Amino acid sequence: MSHALFRNLTSKNPCMVRGEGIYLFDSEGKRYIDGASGSSLVCNIGHGVKEVAAVLTPQAAELAYNPFHCSHSRAYEDMAERMIRLTPQGFGKVFSVSSGSEAVENTVKFGRQYQVARGLPSKHLVISRWQSYHGNTLGALACSGYTGRRRKHTPILKDAVHIPPAFCYRCHFEKTYPGCELKCARALETAILQEGPENVSAFIAEPVVGAALGGAPAPPGYFQKIREICDTYDVLFIADEVMCGFGRTGEWFAVNHWDVVPDLMSTAKGLTSSYLPLGAVAISPAIAAHFEDHVFWGGLTYNSHPLSCAAALAAIDVIEQDDLVGNSKRMGEVMARHHAELADKHPSVGRVRNLGLFGVLELVKDRETLEPLSPFNSLNETMQQVNRALLDRGLFTMVRFNHVMTNPPLCITEEQLGEGFAIIDEVLSIADAAMG
Ligand code: PMP
Repeated sequence: MSHALFRNLTSKNPCMVRGEGIYLFDSEGKRYIDGASGSSLVCNIGHGVKEVAAVLTPQAAELAYNPFHCSHSRAYEDMAERMIRLTPQGFGKVFSVSSGSEAVENTVKFGRQYQVARGLPSKHLVISRWQSYHGNTLGALACSGYTGRRRKHTPILKDAVHIPPAFCYRCHFEKTYPGCELKCARALETAILQEGPENVSAFIAEPVVGAALGGAPAPPGYFQKIREICDTYDVLFIADEVMCGFGRTGEWFAVNHWDVVPDLMSTAKGLTSSYLPLGAVAISPAIAAHFEDHVFWGGLTYNSHPLSCAAALAAIDVIEQDDLVGNSKRMGEVMARHHAELADKHPSVGRVRNLGLFGVLELVKDRETLEPLSPFNSLNETMQQVNRALLDRGLFTMVRFNHVMTNPPLCITEEQLGEGFAIIDEVLSIADAAMG
């Protein structure tokens, strides 16, 4: 019996022992294309990158842990400086943590401490969206609108107020863009007025919704409208870039597609490309200025861990040197063509979406009713068969609810994309046959 507690006790997944570029190898020596970047879009630069491995031993030998862990170390300073250069229009400061959930929780804390400092102590509420995912610690879960994960832990400490997502394919308002006049963004204004602007600290959203919707970018104009509403009511805008940051969408950060600047931004995953755990909060100059001479009460044992910061610097170097943000954009165009071909050929493909290499196929029982092939929060027998058939043919990717996600490492080539999509093409016959 294994003493390790697995998340999925019935899991029969292969045991991966090695990775190289976009490929993973299991304990039997079988090769898989990694269509999920190491699961949940973490390994943006690909596997087995020697340049990252090479910096870890020297850093461990030089300084493995910073005793003033909330304070300076060279690796932290360098990582923060580099991140500031990459974020939209230059944020002011970076605060580093160990995971995406911690990054999200600390954006909320920064926001609230800042509102209090401005003499607005009642501004404490956070507004977020249904069908969103911001992490699995209780505070981050309170912000999340992903019912499957929330339900297991309710009642949650202090819940966020949730508004409908910006999701045109299954619009909550049953409208069509652009005739809808962005009702989903205007819902934020309604919520702020209902709660009282004097009580609302921040609005948090993923620019591209990942775990809960499989990859759903907001429509054009959405975040501009959100920014406008936040400014009107003195509410901070937090962009959760944990999944969509660091080149995934063909821009360094996904908010760049809307050309807006958030007040706070949570990042993780692609920051180190998963070579070590690290999350970071980017803080706008206005908020950062307050914390120049005020303590931020957010200390954690592994804040600014030197090894993780060194891994981040090396991973960012690889993204820059190999132009992986550009490649994500170019390969995103290739992916869109593959998606369109699959949608033409397979009746079970209800909708395809991608922004850079953040992509998904939504499988349905019926294109008219949009009934999902597997209900939300479940993986029915058909989707399990799809998952097994993909693995059998050497493609590992995230298959959840009615989604087949298409999120390979950003170093993928056109030929390798073709190889992966040929497998999906073959396997979709299972979904077509199950439509009834
Ligand atoms: N925010 C988003 C957008 C995420 O996708 C995730 C993880 N999937 C998190 C936060 C939480 O990150 P972590 O699992 O590293 O705590």
